[in-house]
Amino acid sequence: MNRFLELAVPGVRQLMPYVPGKPAEELQRELGLSEVIKLASNENPLGTGSKVAEAIKNTLPELARYPDGSGFALKAALSAKLDVAPEQITLGNGSSEILELVMRTFVTPEHEIVFSQHAFALYPILTQAVGATARVVAAKNFGHDLDAMLAAVTDKTRVVFIANPNNPTGTLLSEDAVESFVKALPSNVLCVLDEAYYEFVDPAVRTESLQWPERYPNLVVTRTFSKAYGLAGLRIGYGISSLDVADLLNRVRQPFNGNMLALAAAEAALSDSDYLAQTIAVNNAGMQQLTGAFKFLDLDWIPSSGNFVSVDVKQQALPIYNALLQKGVIVRPVANYEMPLHLRVSIGTARENQIFIKALGEVLRGV
Ligand SMILES: *Cc1c(COP(=O)(O)O)cnc(C)c1O
Repeated sequence: MNRFLELAVPGVRQLMPYVPGKPAEELQRELGLSEVIKLASNENPLGTGSKVAEAIKNTLPELARYPDGSGFALKAALSAKLDVAPEQITLGNGSSEILELVMRTFVTPEHEIVFSQHAFALYPILTQAVGATARVVAAKNFGHDLDAMLAAVTDKTRVVFIANPNNPTGTLLSEDAVESFVKALPSNVLCVLDEAYYEFVDPAVRTESLQWPERYPNLVVTRTFSKAYGLAGLRIGYGISSLDVADLLNRVRQPFNGNMLALAAAEAALSDSDYLAQTIAVNNAGMQQLTGAFKFLDLDWIPSSGNFVSVDVKQQALPIYNALLQKGVIVRPVANYEMPLHLRVSIGTARENQIFIKALGEVLRGV
């Protein structure tokens, strides 16, 4: 029994920590395996790009200094690329921090937070941490049911989270559907549109939402450098909002929440269009490779617009997950997302995907 439990604020007492993907080194140590493949955290399988490596090397001599707390250079680069004003941008220690800033800025224990069943695990954690009440709306075909989410909004609702594409389902909402939702939302309810996987979406069906906060000042769009830009380890993401919302988030954030290496690396990553193009190409090919194998293995999967895919293994997925671990392949069980029959697999390199496919086939055949 934790002696400080009663001192913790009410939301925190019942909080269950976020469970990250198992680190590859840990499994390697435990089982004494020569190689471990990690397809569990939607990381970029291409590793660090050369422009980023160069930027980090050039920044190393400066690390005794505090970073630029305003993130001037990165905001200028984002502003130019995304056609938004620098003042609309809030930088965060990962886009997770932007989600947290919205909660800490606007939400008290009297409020309700609306999000979908099977949505990103951070939404319930952040809701509990501020002691607010979660209104979880049943999903439709694993995706967000926006009509039902709108119907769940009450006088007490302060924030609605929409993940597009959603993690761990990979489901995508159309631009029309999202905009209609935002339009219909009361202006005193903030909508957080979480676009962590934006770059992976086929441009033909992608939601272009960055100009919306001008029309809908209660909208905050979040994006990240962790996934397509390959900077998960550095922690840098951003929010795009109306000036009024950005002003408030800026008051709440820590003055140096974007670290110096992350700021420099993100700016370099933004300019590296070759890396991004290669990332998308590898992802598209890998998605074909994995779903082709699922078809061959007679398994269903949820069509995904992200850099991962959730596959229905037609039985409890946890034993399959554990058997894959024994073979040195780490994927993600999603029972905590109310998807006990699915495993979420991040798209890796062609070689990593092949190792996973082989291991999955063996596990399913019981060898
Ligand atoms: C990975 C992810 C994020 C944020 O990750 P950061 O590394 O904090 O930027 C946000 N939302 C969803 C849905 C994600 O999957």
